[in-house]
Amino acid sequence: QYAAVKDVLAGQYSAGETVTVRGWVRTRRDSKAGISFVNVHDGSCFDAIQAVVPSDLDNYSSEVQKLTTGCSVAVTGTVAASAGQGQDFELQASSVHVYGWVEDPDTYPMAPKRHSMEYLREFAHLRPRTNVAGAVTRVRHCLAQAVHRFFHQHGYYWISTPIITTSDAEGAGELFRVSTLDMQNLPKDDKGQVDYSQDFFGKEAFLTVSGQLNVEAFASSLSKVYTFGPTFRAENSNTSRHLAEFWMIEPEVAFADLNDVAKLAEDMLKFVFKAVLDERADDMAFFAERIDKQAISRLQHVIDNDFVHMDYTDAIEVLQNCGKQFDYPVAWGVDLQSEHERYLAEEHVGAPVILKNYPRDIKAFYMRQNDDGKTVAAMDVLAPGIGEIIGGSAREERLDLLDKRLREMDLPAEEYSWYRDLRRYGSVPHAGFGLGFERLVAYVTGMTNIRDVIPYPRSPKNADF
Ligand code: ATP
Ligand code: MG
Ligand code: MG
Ligand code: MG
Repeated sequence: QYAAVKDVLAGQYSAGETVTVRGWVRTRRDSKAGISFVNVHDGSCFDAIQAVVPSDLDNYSSEVQKLTTGCSVAVTGTVAASAGQGQDFELQASSVHVYGWVEDPDTYPMAPKRHSMEYLREFAHLRPRTNVAGAVTRVRHCLAQAVHRFFHQHGYYWISTPIITTSDAEGAGELFRVSTLDMQNLPKDDKGQVDYSQDFFGKEAFLTVSGQLNVEAFASSLSKVYTFGPTFRAENSNTSRHLAEFWMIEPEVAFADLNDVAKLAEDMLKFVFKAVLDERADDMAFFAERIDKQAISRLQHVIDNDFVHMDYTDAIEVLQNCGKQFDYPVAWGVDLQSEHERYLAEEHVGAPVILKNYPRDIKAFYMRQNDDGKTVAAMDVLAPGIGEIIGGSAREERLDLLDKRLREMDLPAEEYSWYRDLRRYGSVPHAGFGLGFERLVAYVTGMTNIRDVIPYPRSPKNADF
């Protein structure tokens, strides 16, 4: 019978039972006593299982002794208590079948040694074989499942928002154009401009930068909804926290205000952190050992404590009086840079912090105006090591104030007629936020570059594989 490595190691088979595990060789060591120790992993858990292979197997010298890291094998044997350190069970092998050899072990790019993250990025197709990418992949999966579970348990419906859209979603980011026009021979109008009326959608179309406006329409009927899908921004700079293609989780809640969604963000983060500590203890132990000593204690601290809330205005004062030299100076009215965000989270609070009530003029048109006439009911959740991981707000549900904002920002009301309808027909106060999924995975694992927590990172000049 075929067995997953994780089940054998967890003691799901009794000693003496015969099982077959299939996977890839992590290491092989031959002992003088005429046996070989072959460690096999299959991705089902962090650890590999040790197979003890006796030299009397038919293919011992012809094959077993030639196994190298990366070879694919099936090992059949009896489950036995392991005397060695680390694991409770091993396999006493009675046969080893080789599916595939590694052509040239000396130049195998994933040969067993510590590779730099930069090096691994050049092998997006082979890096899943490394311990670190395997652990990231399992944690990422666990977090995604936990996000869906959290919302499902709290009565939210998952809405798929469109990937192709003609709206630029408040200019949240640089747009990728989607077109079927012949680039060599673009149709032009009388003024010499590209004539997009001849394009597939009859006008300019883009990849979505946010599903928020679309999901608001569903909150205005189903009350509690969220999107969780891919998002695209042609970010021009190479930073360690921006990707051109990333996944975003965007809940939208009717009859909610800013504090309601701040609480929702806190509850959701605590829920998914608990899930990952429970379900991926093996991978988290690896991150704590190899990537970031605080990987586990940091999450536990978040789970055990209330989030700190701060007003933008107070944060500016803190930043101005902290005595630290920033590359970008701070004054009331500026948008915070990652260095400011990180200072507040890392040094001022020492944990994630929720910053609220930003100046109206640096925020999108749809954010709900506060009574002071200067600020809007916006929040960012700032995390140590990264800075912003969540951006959210109460949405302006009052049509007259929304229209005033559209005019002030020179945005054409016609383009937003469907969005305005939501305020014309049964408008309600509502609020929501966007959580960058890769920033969440980076925060949880302690990985410092966002390109290492997504299977196939897209960034300037990089969309191969
Ligand atoms: P930043 O200030 O870091 O550029 P933002 O304010 O432009 O982020 P929002 O429009 O508020 O981002 O999007 C909501 C969330 O999406 C952010 O809090 C962040 O977690 C995530 N996010 C935004 N841009 C990117 C990106 N290019 N790559 C990965 N995640 C991103
Ligand atoms: Mg941005
Ligand atoms: Mg921002
Ligand atoms: Mg933001």
